Amino acid sequence: MMLFLRTALLLVLAVSVAPAQRLTPLATQPDWSSLEKFQSTITKEEFTSLLTQVYAPHGASNRYFTIKDDCVEVVTSPGKPPFRLQFATEATGAKPVPRYWHKGSSLRGLRIALDPGHLGGRWAQMEERWYQIGSSKPVTEGDMTLYVARLLKRELEARGAKVSLTRDSAEPASSRRPEQLRKEAAAALRDQNRSVNPASITSESEKLFYRTAEIRARAKKVNGSLKPDLVLALHFNAEEWGNPAAPKLVGLNHLHLLVSGCYSAEELSYDDERYDLMVKLLNRSYGEEVAVSSAVARSMARVTHLPPYTYTSDSAINVGSSPYIWARNLLANRLFECPVVYLEPYVMNNREVHARVQAGDYKGRRDINGAPRESIYREYARGVAEGLASYYGR
Ligand SMILES: [Zn+2]
Repeated sequence: MMLFLRTALLLVLAVSVAPAQRLTPLATQPDWSSLEKFQSTITKEEFTSLLTQVYAPHGASNRYFTIKDDCVEVVTSPGKPPFRLQFATEATGAKPVPRYWHKGSSLRGLRIALDPGHLGGRWAQMEERWYQIGSSKPVTEGDMTLYVARLLKRELEARGAKVSLTRDSAEPASSRRPEQLRKEAAAALRDQNRSVNPASITSESEKLFYRTAEIRARAKKVNGSLKPDLVLALHFNAEEWGNPAAPKLVGLNHLHLLVSGCYSAEELSYDDERYDLMVKLLNRSYGEEVAVSSAVARSMARVTHLPPYTYTSDSAINVGSSPYIWARNLLANRLFECPVVYLEPYVMNNREVHARVQAGDYKGRRDINGAPRESIYREYARGVAEGLASYYGR
């Protein structure tokens, strides 16, 4: 009996201490062998600097990445051997980087995918990107980003670019719906040590629907069929507005752009996030993301007159010697393999922005708080288009 109990106890201990495979919600087990094509494509110096200064600052990669003289070893899954990437040496030189996107030298022929953030329409309230003051026009981010995307598509096509949209309506790209995601929602809550009850499962399954499943579906479309040279992720920012039916309006207004990076140690404890980091780092998105973002940030600052937003938390780091550009790990810039320029201009619950949304779209300029202004949508689209034109026209 004693022996049996001891064996049982040991078994329980063995099970509880064995690190489990960790995946973020709706992720599939990564195929590490697909990274074999990156063997000998990067030097130790370049890998180390991208890993420690951009993708995993503050020592976040220490537990999972071991940099040796000639290679880096990355933890894959518990019980599985690490993935080993051989560095390029001076003697052999670095092999060409395999990737589907190209660094464009002109807007003509450049393949650009526009990703209008969120959904809008009948989903706007569920995705908490909606507020309304009395009977005034509701402010819904997903509808506003789609409107900008359509204007921008015309602007960029007129300059010769080949433009596609990740969505062209307020309907999701994903076929999954909240009621089909309750099991995954309960698992996600347990993984984050949050309480599991019918209400928390409902709210988590909605998040998995409008955020996780949707972004994953768009990424599949981008990497699998569109294969663009650049993704422009279009968003509007916001400050805390409280009750969406009686929102707080603020005087603050700002602009910033995001590139992929700044994974935390906690995020890197997930197998799929370590794999995603390797894909982005090894295909060298970063240089292009910062270069294009710099040109677009300059142009957006000029047309909007907005000051830079400054992060005060560890979730982002300032990069690219521009106060407007930050590296931050978001699903929507991590999963798109090509360079992503992720825009966060305008605070939606700023008083002037609210007035401009009420004014809607119009040609020319109108008086807004005593100054002649373009419609907020045209100003946004023009700022992006002129930034790209200056970058690719260089
Ligand atoms: Zn957004």
